[in-house]
Amino acid sequence: MLKFAANNSEIAADTPDAVRYNRIRRWLEIGDFVLGLGFLLGMVLTGWSGQLRDWAYRAAFQNYTLAVLLYVVMLLALAKLVSLALDYSGFRLECRYQLSNQRLRAWLKDEAKGFIVTFVIAAIVVELLYFVIRQYPENWWLITWALFMVLFIAMAQLAPLILFPIFYKFEPLEDEELKRRLVRLSEQAGTRVRGVYKWNLSEKSKKANAALTGLGNTRRIILADTLLDNYTPDEIEAVLAHELGHHVHRHILKSIIVQAGITLLGFWAANWALHYSVDHHFFEQLSDFANLPLLALVSVVLSFLLMPALNAFSRFNERQADRYAFESIASVGPFVSSMNKLATQNLAERTPSKWVEWFFHSHPSISRRLAAAESWNRSHAVS
Ligand SMILES: [Zn+2]
Repeated sequence: MLKFAANNSEIAADTPDAVRYNRIRRWLEIGDFVLGLGFLLGMVLTGWSGQLRDWAYRAAFQNYTLAVLLYVVMLLALAKLVSLALDYSGFRLECRYQLSNQRLRAWLKDEAKGFIVTFVIAAIVVELLYFVIRQYPENWWLITWALFMVLFIAMAQLAPLILFPIFYKFEPLEDEELKRRLVRLSEQAGTRVRGVYKWNLSEKSKKANAALTGLGNTRRIILADTLLDNYTPDEIEAVLAHELGHHVHRHILKSIIVQAGITLLGFWAANWALHYSVDHHFFEQLSDFANLPLLALVSVVLSFLLMPALNAFSRFNERQADRYAFESIASVGPFVSSMNKLATQNLAERTPSKWVEWFFHSHPSISRRLAAAESWNRSHAVS
């Protein structure tokens, strides 16, 4: 333990590659956001959205429900067209820094799958939304909020079974030694996770990752094969302990509760924006689905404004999960080495600038997590 403390006092500096890669990635993210904002504003202010609605009506023989569906397809297709160049740049960036295992063909296939999945979910959500607006123009925002929360919880539960397998293969973890360690960790915590799955991330990426997903009986820990293949059992145990920390501290439930509050605020603001737009003759009535870009705009702006707060909440949870890991494993050494390996493998910035971490990062920086491990070790290294 003492030896480890001595080893860890210096944290490796970020390589120029890591700094550049992360800077470009951030700019792509910002570009994507600005472009999305411009697209939605343009749709609302120029009247193009109304034009799209008229086409949808004509093609749907004036049937409202079918017109909504056609409008959603056209809007999503346009949005995809607008963001395609940036999406492709993101793919090229991963290739340039040797982080991708995908060829262009496979990437395009994933993009197509992503579009279809988005369309199916959007179609259900938007049809439901305008159905409620038409039936209950007074309280639509409260009713839709309640319905969305039900959908949201159902999605959280079903995602590991239906959504994730569309993009990745998963199989139950076979490794007996790791299973034994997980059972020991779980018993220590007095809890039970339904399963641990191997996540075949390597067919797409060289990066490593792990997560806790699902709700109730779909709750599971997923470990990327890129992690399983390159990390020692002690290091994998440290990662498992961190994920178990999320489970023990009920982070998924807490996130859903926070999300429920934000969504309520979002619907309240959307209702205000819709009434404003009708009062000022942008749209004729609330149920005019050409106002969909306006609703999306409210959600995008709100997410942007709340991002620092949500990321701070997430970082708080991550620190809690890290502390849980320190307490459950025999020594923090493997935690430290796994973090260092992850940083190198994922080309992560170990010490990003303060404001970048504050605004963009859902996890504390690697240097902070290592410092926390070291400080925990110092205060608990009694023997
Ligand atoms: Zn975590």
